[in-house]
Amino acid sequence: MRLALARALIPAARASSIRPTPRAPVARRRPSLRSRDRPGFSTRSSSFARPAAASAAMEVHQFPCLNDNYSFLLHDPNSGATAVVDTPEVAPIEAALAERGWTLTHILNTHHHWDHTGGNEELKKRHPGVRVIGPARETKGAIPGLDRAVVEGDVVELGAIEARVLDTPGHTAGHVSYHFPSERKIFVGDTLFAMGCGRLFEGDAETMLASVRKITALPGDTQVYCAHEYTMTNAKFAATVEPENAELARRVRETEAMRAAGIPTVPTTVEKELATNPFCRSDSEGLRRTLGMEGADDVAVFAETRRRKDAF
Ligand code: ZN
Ligand code: FE
Repeated sequence: MRLALARALIPAARASSIRPTPRAPVARRRPSLRSRDRPGFSTRSSSFARPAAASAAMEVHQFPCLNDNYSFLLHDPNSGATAVVDTPEVAPIEAALAERGWTLTHILNTHHHWDHTGGNEELKKRHPGVRVIGPARETKGAIPGLDRAVVEGDVVELGAIEARVLDTPGHTAGHVSYHFPSERKIFVGDTLFAMGCGRLFEGDAETMLASVRKITALPGDTQVYCAHEYTMTNAKFAATVEPENAELARRVRETEAMRAAGIPTVPTTVEKELATNPFCRSDSEGLRRTLGMEGADDVAVFAETRRRKDAF
């Protein structure tokens, strides 16, 4: 799926209509990207200069699956490479591919739960050559059809567009997120939700808080693609623990209006979550006052917030 440089330099107008923000002019692509495909490469946000790829923007097609899951098709218009992020259900994924006229080349799994991997084997059968990329640190064999196991620092290529893998454990032991620095987008599975976070099934509060902070350390305008539409429930809970947060109150009203109109609230942004998501605001005085934990450390505040949400 690597691209000849000449082809990468062709300006692609096709993608421009779906892109929400204009792209800065770009220079030449850095060479030998493969060499960074190894564990240990720093993925700190400070190192995320926009890759100098003269390529078109990645197209994202988001669609609902099952009761409240989202799945996402990611398409590189230059190479034609198309990935699906998580496979809750085959039929809507096939319908989305047919609607766009895209051919599936990759599956990117965030974690092992069935509502994220259930379609892997069927999709592999239907689309010979599809490569399944997923977390290395889940239980062995937990990701059906896994071809390439990835950990933090690995680079996944969709044509000339790069995703960098972040380990975001807590919901599951091996959960990963896929960050596309050039696109200012991250696919976070069940780690972070709009105004919420995933349940701690296979990790403790400290682990999950560290994962959430990896995501919120990215640039504020990074679009965060969560795997579920849980926003309204999360909003109602958030308002109970931070009743004086005016930005949160505004977002609760906005969410109500969007859901009433059937509009997805995903993606969100890092900036929005930092302002309104109690799981990103362990240092908030208002939150701490509600919990009666003014002097506690951030992990304890996060853990208590999670405990209250579990019982909400
Ligand atoms: Zn899950
Ligand atoms: Fe899920």
